Amino acid sequence: MAGGSLSGGGVGEYIIFTKDLGFRSHNEGDGVHILLVEDDDRIAAALRPALHRHGMTTTRLAVGRGVADHLAGADVVLLDLGLPDVDGVDVCRAIREVSDVPVIVVSARGEVEDRILGLNCGADDYLVKPYDIGELVARVHTVLRRRGPSAAGGPAGEAVRVADVEVDTGRHTVTVAGRPVVLTRKEFQVLALLAGARGAVCTRGRIVAEVWGRSWPGANRTLDVHVASLRTKLGRPELVQTVRGVGYRLGHAGE
Ligand code: CA
Repeated sequence: MAGGSLSGGGVGEYIIFTKDLGFRSHNEGDGVHILLVEDDDRIAAALRPALHRHGMTTTRLAVGRGVADHLAGADVVLLDLGLPDVDGVDVCRAIREVSDVPVIVVSARGEVEDRILGLNCGADDYLVKPYDIGELVARVHTVLRRRGPSAAGGPAGEAVRVADVEVDTGRHTVTVAGRPVVLTRKEFQVLALLAGARGAVCTRGRIVAEVWGRSWPGANRTLDVHVASLRTKLGRPELVQTVRGVGYRLGHAGE
């Protein structure tokens, strides 16, 4: 897979508390699935029922290795920086290489350096142990809201068609030859941005800025990973065209 150095290292010991694979909604916490990366059993045991009371479900990993393999279905990752096997900052970077899932990092240290490191590694927010469960829940809702209204389903909007690929930015759907294709939120945002440009080139800088809202070392690689995934999922490798040294555009094969 396209993961960083932390993936592919085996499953590791992990405990599944509960897992709701079906219903996904970001309203009032119902169906929000938290990937909890925490080596401290007591903290994990305390968090589980507390999060469940707020309508959330959890999967727990007790080690950092292999986290990137467990991101599917997670709405938010709660990541302890002090893990026994891998530094949490490196785990966070590995997550960012393959996913845009919101990450809240947690540290018992609470030092200024940790805060800076945490946010530079692509984390969305930061909590210092011990923290209040109410504050954690509030932060979860905040990062989900900040990630945009796409999950709530927008109004029926404009559809852009290129060859047999149709991108409906309002309904957040993509079809290829009439068949729906499931994309991640960020993959869709990249595609929608390119579709909106109507064949014009979008620079890498613009795509990163508009889709991720910020840039960071490794942003170009992340964009490339998303584009590669888009090409695979759409089954139309010619659709998203690379303009070398500039960015990407949508076009018909042979253009
Ligand atoms: Ca720890």
